[in-house]
Amino acid sequence: MQKGTIGVTTDNIFPVIKKFLYSDHEIFLRELVSNAVDATQKLRTLSSFGEYKGELGDLDVTVTVDKEKGTLTVTDRGIGMTAEDIDKYINQIAFSGAEEFLAKYKDSANAIIGHFGLGFYSAFMVSSKVEIRSLSYKEGAKGVMWSCDGSPEFEMGDCDKTDRGTEITLYIDDDNKEFLEQARIDTLLKKYCRFLPVPVRSGDKVINDTAPQWTKKPSELTDDDYRNFYHELYPGQDDPLFWIHLNVDYPFTLTGILYFPKIHNNFEVNRNRIQLYCNQVFVTDSVEGVVPEFMMLMQGVIDSPDIPLNVSRSYLQSDTAVKKISGYITKKVAQRLEDLFKADRKDFESKWDDIKIFIQYGMLTDPKFAEQAMKFVLLKDTEDRYFTLDEYRKLVEAQQTDKNGDIIYLYATDPTAQYTYIKGATDRGYDVLLMDGQLDSHFIGLMEQKLEKTRFVRVDSDVIDNLILKEDKRNVTLSDTQRSVLTTVFSSQIPTVEKTNFLVSFEALGETSMPVVITQNEFMRRMKDMAALQPGMNFYGELPDSFNLVVNTDSPLVARVTEAADKSVAGKVQPLMDKVNADNAQITTLRGDGKTAPDTETQQKISDLEKAVADTRAEQEKLVKDFAQGQPLVKQMIDLALLGNGLLRGKNLNDFITRSISLLK
Ligand code: ADP
Repeated sequence: MQKGTIGVTTDNIFPVIKKFLYSDHEIFLRELVSNAVDATQKLRTLSSFGEYKGELGDLDVTVTVDKEKGTLTVTDRGIGMTAEDIDKYINQIAFSGAEEFLAKYKDSANAIIGHFGLGFYSAFMVSSKVEIRSLSYKEGAKGVMWSCDGSPEFEMGDCDKTDRGTEITLYIDDDNKEFLEQARIDTLLKKYCRFLPVPVRSGDKVINDTAPQWTKKPSELTDDDYRNFYHELYPGQDDPLFWIHLNVDYPFTLTGILYFPKIHNNFEVNRNRIQLYCNQVFVTDSVEGVVPEFMMLMQGVIDSPDIPLNVSRSYLQSDTAVKKISGYITKKVAQRLEDLFKADRKDFESKWDDIKIFIQYGMLTDPKFAEQAMKFVLLKDTEDRYFTLDEYRKLVEAQQTDKNGDIIYLYATDPTAQYTYIKGATDRGYDVLLMDGQLDSHFIGLMEQKLEKTRFVRVDSDVIDNLILKEDKRNVTLSDTQRSVLTTVFSSQIPTVEKTNFLVSFEALGETSMPVVITQNEFMRRMKDMAALQPGMNFYGELPDSFNLVVNTDSPLVARVTEAADKSVAGKVQPLMDKVNADNAQITTLRGDGKTAPDTETQQKISDLEKAVADTRAEQEKLVKDFAQGQPLVKQMIDLALLGNGLLRGKNLNDFITRSISLLK
């Protein structure tokens, strides 16, 4: 029996391993099983080259728990180890500066294990003693045993093992009894070993699929194969929309299948993420920074021996190989989408509503993807027609170019609520896009940057004449007095709507147009929409909604009100307005050039005049308000406009109905 000390520079590595690697204890099983699988694969390779001439026999790896003995055993029928192998690979672990390193990476077991090739030693995270019994495939090899209780001393000697391969027995320590539960072990094997290339047996079942779909050639697989594999990965989901089979050998090796899922809510997205594998060993499904950002919405499997998997994530994210891989995947996804678009436009359109979110998200987060996607990103209009960006430009160019040469893309976010505006626009020969997706407001911003001389304008953001300004507008023929009177007439009759402001303005919209139209400024609305999505923009979020109440001076109904106002109040208002103007003029003169402060006497005069102005204004306002009060027509016109925008509710709606009935009498 040979005794010796394991070649580590630090006195006692095992307690350190145990202490620091606490959080990731369970990965010991992944390490041991993948070592067993590696040893088996090596034997297969040797055999195929004729370097091993014996029988391969049953090559299954087995994992057994013995609750009574308190052991967990991983057995393989691979190449095995000679005493020299054990000495070289197990005893002489290079370990310089171990403590320093451990202190630095204490939160990441993966980092340490990968860095130092400590896979086997991870067994000590859960064991009080570990035993190896092995018989090498080499001719004339003798059985060898190795045992270590967690101190740097080990024992090594001959044993009577007669069948080829390695058996590793863990004496599970008191803190880790959970690993003696068959159910726990099966769960772990399902997580880490589900797609290992050699059958792994636990209890009496094989737990893995040794040839998962991504390792096969796309030509060998049917659509159903892809769908079934998807359901195997993510049980209980709808069929995926489509998938991309990745298969690269150069400049790195990468295989995988990416799925575009049907997304119902964000919760599912977070739960069912892309899984990273390294030679069919599961590594992680927290792939932020490893796969391109927009792929966080996708699902499936990526397998690459070139992604340095056993390192911390921050390292992974800054790794240049990873960046290249990520860039490659982006390109591949874009290519595949373009192919699908070209091959079957109808099918692509039928899926568009579901895949739009991926493509828009990709374009918003990845400039390279955005560049490629410009060819196949679609716009949908309110008549359910789909267009590429080029097609759409051609469609609207002639009709929707304004006097400055900007092409105006009109859009609606809610076809029901904005029905009147959409109809107004389409009646005029304009097209209206449907932009009701979660990301559409951001997407619009991106398109305005990318498309030259193009602006997106929501169809209800202004009266139809102003949406696309073609030439100089028709003039509003109102005198100053009329304008002032009508402003008060209308603004005083607007019912109070919570958190909402209205600004009265006048436009000549034609005799047949509505007498009153309500619009919402595009810029302000966008600001508010953005504020709703982003924290820290409360300023805009807390502003009330501001609408324009546009009075159509061409409307015969408005003309009637104007006439009535001319008759009953204009005569009285005119002298009041004249007085305000005169007083204001005097104030300006008294203030002088503003460089020298006025003396006290002048100051007094100014404030007297200011008070007089305020009083006259109040008087004028009261006069006009009293008039307006007696004009149910005004209220009726305003309420109809509010009703058309879903802004007439509660008491206001009830008042409107009562008034309407009394008007019918
Ligand atoms: P790594 O697997 O990263 O090289 P390990 O500490 O897990 O590091 O294993 C060290 C070496 O021990 C392996 O490279 C292999 O040569 C040998 N080894 C471990 N387990 C087995 C096994 N089950 N059969 C044969 N050789 C093994």
